[in-house]
Amino acid sequence: MDIKDVVTAYHQRGAEVIEFVYSFGTHANAAEQIARTLLMPIARARAMMILGKAMYGPCPRHEKRQVREANTILARRMGVGLEMLLMIHSQVKQLSLQAPLTREELRAELLALSKEMSVDEMRAHAARRVQELNPGGVRRECRYLRFSRSIGADGLRAMMVRLPEQEMMRVREAVDARVQATWRSGSNRRHEQARADALHDLLAGASVVGEVPVRRLEPTIVITTRDAAGEVIDTETGRTFGLSDGSTMTLEEYASIQLADTGYVVVCDADNAPVNAYRIQRLANWKQRHILEAEQLVCGNANCGCAGNMCQVHHIKPWEQGGETNLANLMLLCPTCHARVDRDPEWKLNGYNGRDPDGRTWHQDPNGKRRYTMLPIRKLGIRGVAATL
Ligand SMILES: [Zn+2]
Repeated sequence: MDIKDVVTAYHQRGAEVIEFVYSFGTHANAAEQIARTLLMPIARARAMMILGKAMYGPCPRHEKRQVREANTILARRMGVGLEMLLMIHSQVKQLSLQAPLTREELRAELLALSKEMSVDEMRAHAARRVQELNPGGVRRECRYLRFSRSIGADGLRAMMVRLPEQEMMRVREAVDARVQATWRSGSNRRHEQARADALHDLLAGASVVGEVPVRRLEPTIVITTRDAAGEVIDTETGRTFGLSDGSTMTLEEYASIQLADTGYVVVCDADNAPVNAYRIQRLANWKQRHILEAEQLVCGNANCGCAGNMCQVHHIKPWEQGGETNLANLMLLCPTCHARVDRDPEWKLNGYNGRDPDGRTWHQDPNGKRRYTMLPIRKLGIRGVAATL
């Protein structure tokens, strides 16, 4: 196939591409499989899956089956491109169910025009039509607040908000008022950065926002035992230092001397591994959780960027099968990834997750292929930090 055929297929055979994507199914891991097979970002794979469901999945009750089928045939016959199909779908789903046309009827109308317009012209035209058709002229209520699942190479995560114009203006006024009080032009912060700082101050800087208490960021202090006077020895009472004057000191005593009374303590040994299992068993559960958060920072599924404080504690060897509640057998997974884990490695549905002794977390798919988390943010976890001390 030469490159012209590839480009033609992309621009004229959108309906077939979507049918191919739909053949992967709609189960939880299909988007991941599509993204890997077609080498595309997972968000894009999800958008194509959603369109696949609308074109080839079960017909919703409020739509007429014949109209829907005719649309799919029309899209094929006219050779409508993939981008155009995705654009039309993104607009059509803004149509209210109370509008005089159904979504499939509007799709038919837009498909018929698709050869006369560029994708951008279609966006503008379709948005106008939706506004005309929706009762009261208002688009379907679609306010949202989303946090990006992945973290950029620079360690930043994005947040995207949609609000009706008047409400958004009030948010903007509050942010800009704070910027005005704290920012001077010519300072080394750009204006948009000052806005981001102001938003963060407004939402998270105070310990109380309105009536709601906010959990402040809690620092984690990492101490290594390498600067200790003597060597670490295992005794009946746990790990203990032999000091040069012949006396001994437990890890806990050492940590409390180093830290007085603030923060939480995670003690790393000479290999940068967090505290041994024996010690951890004596710790309350929130401490294990805190250590895992500080170590992993994000969900332990390969390349899921969900933040650690949103995650659940997962027993690598299930509790029912005798898996212990100690650090060696625990990891953090976000609620979505946690729900997908095969509780029994024999199941071979979605695969399972685990952690190597060096702390690297992984996902193993049912074919036995193991993938490790490669997110750069993991370097900021306590093992990474301790290694640079
Ligand atoms: Zn996850």
